[in-house]
Amino acid sequence: MSPLFVIIATAFGAASAAFLPRLAHRLAVGYADTPRPVCADCLRPFPPGHSGWVRVGAACSCSGGYAVPVIAGATVAAVLAVAVGPSPELPAYLLAAVPGLLLAMIDMHCLRLPDPLVGALAITAAGPLAVLHPGRVGASLVAAVAVLTAYVILAFFGGLGLGDVKLAAVLALILGFAGWPAVFLGVLAPHLINGPIALFMLVTRRAGRRGPIAFGPALLVGAVLGLALQQA
Ligand SMILES: [Zn+2]
Repeated sequence: MSPLFVIIATAFGAASAAFLPRLAHRLAVGYADTPRPVCADCLRPFPPGHSGWVRVGAACSCSGGYAVPVIAGATVAAVLAVAVGPSPELPAYLLAAVPGLLLAMIDMHCLRLPDPLVGALAITAAGPLAVLHPGRVGASLVAAVAVLTAYVILAFFGGLGLGDVKLAAVLALILGFAGWPAVFLGVLAPHLINGPIALFMLVTRRAGRRGPIAFGPALLVGAVLGLALQQA
């Protein structure tokens, strides 16, 4: 595999992530709340038009840098490029990583996984994958229903929100196109990695010491790992 190809994918991941902080900040609101019209920290209104939503850089001039999402976007894209290689599936995965990263950022801020973004993730990945692998649509749907059922039971016993349940089902749908090992790893890994993620969030003060911890980022990282290990 040519290093140039991995560099291009990584650059795409970093560049697309650089556009997300303001969008994540405005969309990180409670259920049924409208997007934030002003910065949550300095109360400065966001400008009208597209620049009020999407721009390269931090959410607001009062906020710090935006290195963390850019590094996360670059890392995910690099892992996907190395694992999947120059294949027709890769653009679908790289595109799906954009709403995926946005979901992780929003979930870390307000413990929400907005349905329209989960839907966007499903469409950007599962749509092209269904066209590329029509023979695996059935298996993917079975994976999605199985994971949906398991997570509804987990949510019933507490600890998971309905947003987590829906995201897990969508990720299973996507991983189903790669194969059953990817589905199993993608389902198992989030529970193994949530400890370190919870620690990171406590250290960066994104979660109260007694507050619940977002599970969406672990689900998304688990899906990337499931995909990467299946291809390895
Ligand atoms: Zn501000």
